[in-house]
Amino acid sequence: MKKEFAVIGLGRFGGSICRELSREGMEVLALDLDEDKVNEYRDIAAHAVIADSTDENVLRELGIRNIDHVIVAIGDNIQASMLTTLMLKELGIKTITVKAQNDYHEKILSKIGADHVVHPERDMGKRIAHNIISNNILDYIELSDDHSVVEVKAGSKMSGRTLVDLDIRAEYGCNVVAIKRKKEVIVSPMATEEIHESDILIVIGADKDISRFEKNLVVED
Ligand code: ATP
Repeated sequence: MKKEFAVIGLGRFGGSICRELSREGMEVLALDLDEDKVNEYRDIAAHAVIADSTDENVLRELGIRNIDHVIVAIGDNIQASMLTTLMLKELGIKTITVKAQNDYHEKILSKIGADHVVHPERDMGKRIAHNIISNNILDYIELSDDHSVVEVKAGSKMSGRTLVDLDIRAEYGCNVVAIKRKKEVIVSPMATEEIHESDILIVIGADKDISRFEKNLVVED
């Protein structure tokens, strides 16, 4: 059965979610106040409607309570974003993802009961910053305020050494959860696995530990 989604607010963020979900064959209800925005998505989303999401009757009439996952991607109008989230919660939507504009907005959304609060500009900024620090850091995903997963090129410092040699877990408190080697992915590598210079390591840990790991083993001198 196709999963049903609704995307409220078709700016750059909401629009791109709507496009990708539709491209993946999901049934998406696209909703925006702005007629031009809605027209842009008529041929992309399964349903595209002009509506104000802060109007509870409109949400009821659209049958939004039958939708599995609603994404609230209203930007500047923080009040509309919070009110919409609150009403979706009251209507019993199973999963609600909301885009936050700032830290206060994020806090309130979590209190109201949003299941996922995303902060795309801030998160992308962090990812790019990590990438700028070292060309060897390929990607960065925040798991919580103080834990992350990073994808790093092994590079020369780790080349030819095993995980047990490097003692990453004891020395840095981080775990190498997978190694990408050309087309192969080694999940949960053994401690005796020898690292190649061109390997890509997926490392999980506390930010402060990952940061020491990056400084000592990843960043080239
Ligand atoms: P982005 O960065 O994703 O482009 P943004 O953060 O600048 O977006 P806005 O452009 O302020 O966000 O809002 C995104 C969309 O949400 C707009 O197209 C706007 O028309 C729509 N929107 C705002 N309020 C409502 C509402 N109450 N109901 C439905 N859509 C709304």
